[in-house]
Amino acid sequence: MNFELDEEYRLLNETVARFVREELVPLEPAVLEREANGGRYELLPEELEPLHKKCRALGLWALDCPEETGGVDLPAIALVGINQALGHTAVPFNFPPDSPNLHMMLATVNDEQREKYLEPYARGETISAIAISEPNAGADPAGMTTKAVKDGDDWILNGRKIWISKVDQADFTIVMAVTDPDKGSHGGISAFLVDKDTPGFEIARRIKLIGGHDNYEVLFDDCRIPNSQLLGKEGFGFAPMQLRLVVRRLEMGAWCLGMSNRALDMLCEHANQRSTFGSLLADRQSIQWWIADAVTRTHCLKLMLWEAATKQDNGEDIRTEASMIKLYGTELATDIIDRTMQAYGAMGMTKELPLQAMAQKVRLMRIYEGPSEIHRWVIARRKLKESA
Ligand SMILES: Cc1cc2nc3c(=O)[nH]c(=O)nc-3n(C[C@H](O)[C@H](O)[C@H](O)COP(=O)(O)OP(=O)(O)OC[C@H]3O[C@@H](n4cnc5c(N)ncnc54)[C@H](O)[C@@H]3O)c2cc1C
Repeated sequence: MNFELDEEYRLLNETVARFVREELVPLEPAVLEREANGGRYELLPEELEPLHKKCRALGLWALDCPEETGGVDLPAIALVGINQALGHTAVPFNFPPDSPNLHMMLATVNDEQREKYLEPYARGETISAIAISEPNAGADPAGMTTKAVKDGDDWILNGRKIWISKVDQADFTIVMAVTDPDKGSHGGISAFLVDKDTPGFEIARRIKLIGGHDNYEVLFDDCRIPNSQLLGKEGFGFAPMQLRLVVRRLEMGAWCLGMSNRALDMLCEHANQRSTFGSLLADRQSIQWWIADAVTRTHCLKLMLWEAATKQDNGEDIRTEASMIKLYGTELATDIIDRTMQAYGAMGMTKELPLQAMAQKVRLMRIYEGPSEIHRWVIARRKLKESA
């Protein structure tokens, strides 16, 4: 396999790395301070606006949207370096639009939905959310009970979703619901586009998570949706939803690589200047082993990402690779960040350094888009099936 990046993608990766260094990293102290004082872990609109302007000027927009929607249509291999660079800072930022819902829509929209939802989303004019999880169906989404029942030309949604990110800001939410309880995930779960302010669609409560993150519980109470907002084929919402998860899992792996490299840089910098008992930390074997493990494992993650991205660009099914990357990447970043915090001593426990924000971010990542145990299960099941 050839992992050489084309010159144009290599230059783009460099532009992104510069954008992160010059535009995002300087915002880190303010974001960290707001979170330390009980605020949300996010950029303010007045910080986002100039960043978005700059992104547009640099062409860092709609990076994986198809050209017919005004996008750059980058291959997965080019996106690895871009997401890795974004992971390098604790500042939460993504080049609009957020990819996973985009890919789910690309695979499913009809002409009317393309114009009404996909194109404005691809231009970065709207925000979307996705509602899959329920109080009794999280790791096992096939167990969802939110129902959509046909009523003439409409669907009536009833049920409850939980842990939904960004639904407070979303112009529309992709809602997964059971349309045929006898068929389950094999022909019985459909996706719907639900606009904000649709009667019967209500945010029931905000739930505060670690690290200044918020999620929401939402209710559907006789929420009437026109059939024109059924996304994709009735009963077959599960497969495009999985496609969406694969996109996110690769992104997450690349963010983890960025976070791990940042923590490793900080670990080396600190080890080279901090002395205890008359010797630099860099001269202690325990610290050297942490560094050696981190260098080796980040190299493995990088190769895993490049291989999976190359396969994806060749049209291969990378569901297992995406599971391995999500699992390995989040656990790797957890370990490296934790060891770096340990090496910094009390300073590593402060909210002044980005380490604790990165640690909390990656802690959340071990739950969403599938907890680690589910990925281990998926990987083992495929291997056992192969050898049976
Ligand atoms: C920050 C964040 C953002 C999120 N955003 C969204 C969103 O936008 N939209 C959305 O729909 N959902 C979202 N979620 C929900 C997320 O997808 C679920 O939390 C996740 O799928 C796990 O479901 P659960 O919390 O119900 O845990 P459960 O399903 O109750 O599982 C709990 C634990 O049990 C163990 N476990 C479960 N099954 C198995 C098994 N088969 N084998 C071994 N161990 C097992 C695992 O350790 C797992 O962590 C988000 C969650 C977080 C934390």
